[in-house]
Amino acid sequence: MKNRKPVPEFRQEIEAIYAELELRPLPRQCEMRTGCCHFRLAGHTPMLTRGEALHAAQGVRASGRKELKPHPDGACPLLGREGRCTIYKHRPFGCRTHFCAEAGGMYPRKHVADLIQRLEALDERLGGSGSRPLEAAVSDALAAF
Ligand code: SF4
Repeated sequence: MKNRKPVPEFRQEIEAIYAELELRPLPRQCEMRTGCCHFRLAGHTPMLTRGEALHAAQGVRASGRKELKPHPDGACPLLGREGRCTIYKHRPFGCRTHFCAEAGGMYPRKHVADLIQRLEALDERLGGSGSRPLEAAVSDALAAF
């Protein structure tokens, strides 16, 4: 059996942060249009802290993959061929706070600043180096399992 590197406990805190976000009284409705997943078109790439990346990597592993493959259109490598996020339940904070105008637009920072601080504190505890672009962050996190 392959010897896996130990990963400090992070799942509970990440899931608590995402659950807390769901309770915020800001109407947002992601309809999985995936416009925000096409980074070139959207003009942005989600930035992930270490805890988010490890959580997303767990989603990747749960789907049976061990590594990320670039999307042919330059979209998120986690966007499936059928046009759906392949780790939707594990998607990172940035994908939940919607750059997508149709979903309600980006959350005002003041409404989520405390959650961002928790993500940053967890990043520090996990030995992260701050937010990093999705592909690099998740690829590195996959190596931790
Ligand atoms: S992780 Fe999922 S929701 Fe986020 S950009 Fe990638 S495919 Fe889209």
